[in-house]
Formats: sequence, structure tokens, C-alpha cells
Amino acid sequence: MRKLLIAANWKMYKTPTESTAFLTSFYPLVKNSTHAEILLCPAMTSLPALVDAARSKSVFIGAQNMHWKNEGAFTGETSPVMLTAIGATHVLIGHSERRQYFNETDTTVNLKLKAALAHSLIPIVCVGEKLEEREADLTRNVLQLQTSIAHQSIDPAIAAPIVFAYEPVWAIGTGRTATPEIAAEAHRLIRAQIPKSLPPALAASIRILYGGSVKPDNPKSLCCLEDIHGALVRGATTHPQHFPH
Ligand code: PEP
Repeated sequence: MRKLLIAANWKMYKTPTESTAFLTSFYPLVKNSTHAEILLCPAMTSLPALVDAARSKSVFIGAQNMHWKNEGAFTGETSPVMLTAIGATHVLIGHSERRQYFNETDTTVNLKLKAALAHSLIPIVCVGEKLEEREADLTRNVLQLQTSIAHQSIDPAIAAPIVFAYEPVWAIGTGRTATPEIAAEAHRLIRAQIPKSLPPALAASIRILYGGSVKPDNPKSLCCLEDIHGALVRGATTHPQHFPH
């Protein structure tokens, strides 16, 4: 049985003080929950404070992005070495907003995935089709391409921690959740790609999350579906009481 992972992507919201205040109110609500791992991905400036605040708590703290190089002349970027040095454990890779606004490509997603694994960061690789792609019946091609390029030439010896997140772009922040049927079909397509690059037993153990307007109460229905192992969420994680878990 794979454990569920509920991951919050706070995007460019919350100062360090707001982030730690959230954890203070939120932690009592989840500290006894055993069915899911909880991950908070704050803005880069809040990472050190949140890692410190979460130190003795059963909540993971991760980054929303990183560069694939250890260091270099890359103004504004953060390296995997820097993330592990402050105690981050996870990193989101290839979120659709990174792809859309910051020219992230399947190739850079692959470089970042390799770097995250090499530095023992747990990578959550986001894939998903845009509305126009769904309407043009291109969902299958998009998901197959994004998933296969993301993890091509990955060393199976270090690949076990990989997590994929299916995030249909038309569902992110729109209030429009994918139906269980749409999510299940997309997860099947993603799942089918993984053994093409990784040994079957390992491929079968990899978790696939759903993301896109998850509401406080719908991870329960989504996560009960076969092959959905948690959620990547922004909107519903704004307030501690609404956090889906
Ligand atoms: C996201 O940004 O990854 C996301 C899923 O956002 P929301 O939950 O607000 O749709």
C-alpha cells in the first residue's frame, strides 16, 4: 500500500511569519493523522523558517522549484545543494506555471529530476494538458510525452522516490476539478509510461497525485480511486481548517 501524500503548493503567497503561523495553527489538526504524509511547499524566502518550525513535527517541507546545477552564474536561481543544506526534503518540478511563464521544458524537467534524485530530494514532477489540448484530443500525446521525457535515462537505483502529479492545467485555480473518470484515465496513461524507463516493480510503486482545484473534502473521494495516491493543492491549503487531509 502506498501512503497518501497531500502536498501544498503555496506559490508566491505567505511571508515567513505567515508561513510559520500557519504551521502553528495547522499542526494540531493533523499531528495524529497517519494515513497521509503532509508536505508544505512555501515560497523560497519562507523555506528556512518553515523547516526550522517543522523540525520536530511530522510535516515535510519542500521547495516549489530549483535549478539542476549545484552552483553557477544563474541569477535568481536556487540549487539542490542549497535546498538540502537548509533541510528541505522535497521539490516540485515542472509545475504548469513554471512551464507557462518561465519557459520550463520537458528537457529542463528531466535535468531537474535527475539533480533532485542525485541530491536525495523527493521530486514531485507535474504533468498535465491545457484546455485547448484536451479539446483537440491531444491529452494522451501530451501526457505520454511529458511523462516519458521527464524521467528518461534516470538511474533506476535512485529512482524510487519519484512522485508524479497529474495536474490538468484547466483545473488549476479555476474551481473546476477533473471528474474521477478523467483523473483515473489520465493516471492510467501516466502509469503506462513509467515502466518504459524503469523496472516494472519499481514503476508500479511510484505514486501519482492529482492536482487541480482540490477542495477540502474531495481528496477522500479522489484518493479512493485506483492509482491516485494523494493531492497537490493550493487554494484549499490557504487556511489550516480547510486543508484537505
Ligand atoms: C496548483 O497550483 O498546483 C494547484 C493545484 O492549485 P489549486 O489547488 O488552487 O487548483
